Amino acid sequence: MSIAGELILKPGKERSLVRRHPWVYDTAIAKVQGKPASGATVAVCASDGVFLAWAAFAPQSTIRARCWSFVEAERIDAAWLAARVTAAVQRRAPLAAESNALRLVFGEADGLPGFIADRYADQLVVQFQAAGVESQREALLYALTQATRCDDVFERSDSATRNREGLVASSGVVRGAEPPERIEIREHELRFHVDVRRGHKTGYYIDQRPNRLLARRLAERARLALERDVRALNCFCYTGGFSVALAAGGTAQVVSIDSSADALQLARDNAAMNRQDGHDWRGADVFGALRALRDANESFDLIVLDPPKFASSHHHVDRAARAYKDISLNALRLLNPGGFLLTFSCSGAIGVDLFQKIVAGAVIDARVDAQMLSRLAAGEDHPLLMTHPEGEYLKGLLLQRI
Ligand code: SAH
Repeated sequence: MSIAGELILKPGKERSLVRRHPWVYDTAIAKVQGKPASGATVAVCASDGVFLAWAAFAPQSTIRARCWSFVEAERIDAAWLAARVTAAVQRRAPLAAESNALRLVFGEADGLPGFIADRYADQLVVQFQAAGVESQREALLYALTQATRCDDVFERSDSATRNREGLVASSGVVRGAEPPERIEIREHELRFHVDVRRGHKTGYYIDQRPNRLLARRLAERARLALERDVRALNCFCYTGGFSVALAAGGTAQVVSIDSSADALQLARDNAAMNRQDGHDWRGADVFGALRALRDANESFDLIVLDPPKFASSHHHVDRAARAYKDISLNALRLLNPGGFLLTFSCSGAIGVDLFQKIVAGAVIDARVDAQMLSRLAAGEDHPLLMTHPEGEYLKGLLLQRI
């Protein structure tokens, strides 16, 4: 490994790195020694010159460097990267029983900041979201295909984070064959089509897998407890993940709402592939639709709210909080006594505690009594690095109206 330079931090700015937080902000840096290129490996040193970490330099990003390793004796070369990729893939091996759609590498959480690798059956989909992993892309792709024995890799490096690193969007085949129009995946006993070219993220919301299973179990539970047909509402249904899970739990009617006609078409096809009926797909804006359902005196035993990211940064937290409160409040008013509400936020800028306060406000204003049964999070293939709380983005609450 050639060391392209050194970052010398301002006095006191070494503290977060000593605690193994993986980011170095531009404001923490006193001096850049050498002329490191974008993505090059640099040594990060405290103001007194003591070694802190090996990191990837990102000259255009406010996160000026992302740490690879805090061990001075390590060398960030192809073998080192392959060891990290292989370890991440192997840690997920037990999850193969749940699904063949898994996140295999989750950036910072797996010690590879900015690198995402998802598997859909035998198709891999990757994202290089930071300058460091971009400059190591060939080594990472080689390691990933070796570790998984999959030949076909599609790139979806089209997220906003890449722009902040000074990188342009990049999408297309990077190894092997063109992916089919739709890939069929299995999640628990259910089957879904995934469009890795045009779908959100890398095609599918892999992170909600345990919560879709929970929704299915709650539907079964509600049917037994209520001793009658159960009716569910899935808002922001996308390609019908929660809708299909709810129907699989024996829900007699599932009303699903999304504003995207393409997503609804794939959702209909997903329901058909699972030989389900009882679905009612509605193309509409959820904010208005919830009010219209109330005006029509409709009610439900189970409601899922899984909206897009309302707060893209901390600047949008107030507006996002009002939106989360609005939908939660209007959903609670549609919920029958004994019914369940699963309400989510995937905004990293909104923490778990704040989200719980927002939903508590919705309960109060809806004038209903509700208990929180549990807090929900992403699946185990989306782990959280304990030294990097910023990695926690998906949070949810399970409420029961009493
Ligand atoms: N719950 C889904 C993922 C939801 S993604 C799953 O588990 O797969 C968010 C979805 O919300 C997208 O499909 C998008 O089309 C839809 N959407 C965004 N804003 C909307 C709005 N105001 N009304 C209805 N749908 C909306």
